[in-house]
Amino acid sequence: MKEVILIKLGEIVLKGLNRKNFEDRLIKSIKYRLHHIGAFKVRNSQSIITVTPLDDNADMDEAAECISKVFGIAAFSRACAAEKDIESIKNTARDYLEDKFAAAGSFKVEAKRSDKQFPFTSPEIAREVGGFLADCYPDTRVDVHEPEMIVTVEIRDDAAYIHAGVEKGAGGIPVGTGGKAVILISGGIDSPVAAYMMAKRGIELTAVHFASPPYTSERAEEKVRELLSRVSAYSGRMTMYTVPFTKLQEEIRDKCHEEYFTIIMRRFMMMIAEKLAEKNDCRALITGESLGQVASQTIGAIACTDNACGMPVFRPLIGMDKEEIIEISRKIDTFEVSIQPYEDCCTVFTPKHPRTRPVLKNVIAEENRIDYLPLINEAVEKVKITEIQ
Ligand code: ATP
Ligand code: MG
Repeated sequence: MKEVILIKLGEIVLKGLNRKNFEDRLIKSIKYRLHHIGAFKVRNSQSIITVTPLDDNADMDEAAECISKVFGIAAFSRACAAEKDIESIKNTARDYLEDKFAAAGSFKVEAKRSDKQFPFTSPEIAREVGGFLADCYPDTRVDVHEPEMIVTVEIRDDAAYIHAGVEKGAGGIPVGTGGKAVILISGGIDSPVAAYMMAKRGIELTAVHFASPPYTSERAEEKVRELLSRVSAYSGRMTMYTVPFTKLQEEIRDKCHEEYFTIIMRRFMMMIAEKLAEKNDCRALITGESLGQVASQTIGAIACTDNACGMPVFRPLIGMDKEEIIEISRKIDTFEVSIQPYEDCCTVFTPKHPRTRPVLKNVIAEENRIDYLPLINEAVEKVKITEIQ
């Protein structure tokens, strides 16, 4: 008896002419996410993707876990394939669902027949299979109104599939269909959540992290790699650029007025991130900023930051409360890592009284005390590259 996974597409079904492109991307993501588990056949037909293990010992629990994190999937079911004949369907259902029947107090059978050649109608299939299972499992009642378990029989082009439940998929649209963008990633709670949210909208990510050794440690960088590796369970693999930021930060400390430290540092971050984005064919920047959370996240500060780069800056958390952000970070399993106490370059040389309403021309005047262009180019040249799987 072979277990398969049936996948129902999400928003993709709304796409007209682009649909093929979306489906191809989704299939690519599914294959990529499964390749470390074993060999699988991934087949797309009649708006359903069927994932079939080619190896009898494939770990289907792990395969289902991986599939639950692929964007573009509305729902999926673990199912068993049977020959398209009513006796074979009955016997397969009886054997495959044995454990489920042991746990359920009541059930009903629903049938869907997309192969109209099959000699029974949907109600006939439901009746035949339902009656048979009721005889096999007399301790489980038939209840057509509020059953604890719904057994579904789907007669498709290649086989009949039997399952007893649908799980919610990750939603969103397939990674890669929305183009590429740079996520500015710190070790905090917010930026990994921002990365997840934009990947969900189809963005393929490239990560940029600013490190200021010796003020920030190797452990802090390791923490960021761990966060990205958790995000990559959803977003797929990505490249991480670690930017040496010490010199620029020391220049700011030595040459600029303290109340502008943070805003100038953030502008340099945007300039560097934009250069790395251009080199990597990325068309936008993403940050984990949320309005009003800290001094650098006021409208005025954000306006000054945005002015430093020409690309759109996506801030998916802008209107969210910390509690809402934490809820997502727990769901995607980054929270426990984020709260480990390592320093970030943002907390190096932080001013006691940062400007919450900076005036752009004053910021630029302060910034111009530094001959920053060569330093920015040097930082871009000296990035460290890590592949996150
Ligand atoms: P986070 O929880 O993501 O660290 P935060 O609330 O601590 O965010 P800030 O420290 O002001 O806020 O950072 C705002 C955003 O700037 C972050 O969400 C991230 O996108 C970016 N950022 C901050 N520090 C770094 C860093 N060291 N490298 C790359 N990006 C950074
Ligand atoms: Mg932070």
